[in-house]
Amino acid sequence: MCYINVKLGIFCKLKKLISMKIPLLKSISLAIGLVALPFSSNFALAQTDSKLTVYCTVQNKVCEDLTKRFSKQYHIDTQFVHGGTGTILGKIKAEKENPQADIWYGGTIEPHFQAGQLGLLEAYRSPRQGEILPRFKALMESDKGKFTSIAYVMVLGFGVNTEKLKQLGVEPPKKWADLLDPRLKGEVQLPDPRSSGTTYTLIATLIEMWGEEKTFEYLKKLDKNISQYVKSTLVTSNLSRGESAVTVGFVHGYSAEKEKGAPVDSVLPADGVGYALGGVSIIKGARNVENAKRFMDWVLSKEVQEIPWRKDGAYQTPANINAEVSPLSARIDNVKLVEVNYDRFGSSEEGKRLVDKWVSEVKLAK
Ligand code: PLP
Repeated sequence: MCYINVKLGIFCKLKKLISMKIPLLKSISLAIGLVALPFSSNFALAQTDSKLTVYCTVQNKVCEDLTKRFSKQYHIDTQFVHGGTGTILGKIKAEKENPQADIWYGGTIEPHFQAGQLGLLEAYRSPRQGEILPRFKALMESDKGKFTSIAYVMVLGFGVNTEKLKQLGVEPPKKWADLLDPRLKGEVQLPDPRSSGTTYTLIATLIEMWGEEKTFEYLKKLDKNISQYVKSTLVTSNLSRGESAVTVGFVHGYSAEKEKGAPVDSVLPADGVGYALGGVSIIKGARNVENAKRFMDWVLSKEVQEIPWRKDGAYQTPANINAEVSPLSARIDNVKLVEVNYDRFGSSEEGKRLVDKWVSEVKLAK
């Protein structure tokens, strides 16, 4: 047992002498050993604090790249678990008494707010909040910003497979109602809102535009054209492979597929473009709170906000005003976005009510 501490270095030397069988030193060693105990437990604590577990709801490649870079830069053993926004919210709720992760990076922000409201998040205002786009300043200064910061912005639109649409003889949809075209029967896929924040954003956006009744009527009609409700990552890859012709999602995902050569394009609906903010929050009871704070400050910095598009082919729009935006990212200053009431859709009760209503009135209703 050779400790890093100078005092404990003496302990090592004494042990060496003991091995030379000098009896008097045995009792001295025992005494120093007792002194060493608190140091050794401190050392154990220091070891625990050199770890970090991230629940990660951005592209798998970005999770991998950022956690690797953070590990290397800060010598912190950083692991991640990837999952959709709804899935991670469910995990954090289930692990309330024994949290398994320290920080939640990415995912649509309403479920972060819901977790905050349920007391599942640790209060932390990163000093980097001052660099977040000024249009979200009031949100960051509100109580919600005590627990969650905005890491990036995403724009909601249609994803289309241009070849598949050509085969079907259908023009790309321009408006929300165009997704109800009977010729698209079995050709539309959507993420399941129980696991995915994307479809929760869709529901919130339509409610803001049309009210709840018309939204659910629309979703029920749309259900007739849906082949499957799957994970959001799968929806995009299925679209690229031509397993579906149309989907609804964040348009940066379609830019990435197009760049890779897939016959995929995005359309911003003429009658209302939704958006979502990507959140980052520290989990209450986290074992590695200081590392989690460091990670939050780091992912909000200008340099790190540019890594997903410069290195990983991921084009969500950075939330840091100083970060350069990729030419392939959606320019949120040029589009009129449907505003979301975060008090309503960030409420845990409302979130649960709307997802349960979708299950009973859309998914299971025949
Ligand atoms: N964050 C990013 C960067 C995304 O691209 C997406 C989905 O496309 C999400 C969050 C939301 O993912 P999910 O709908 O699986 O919760």
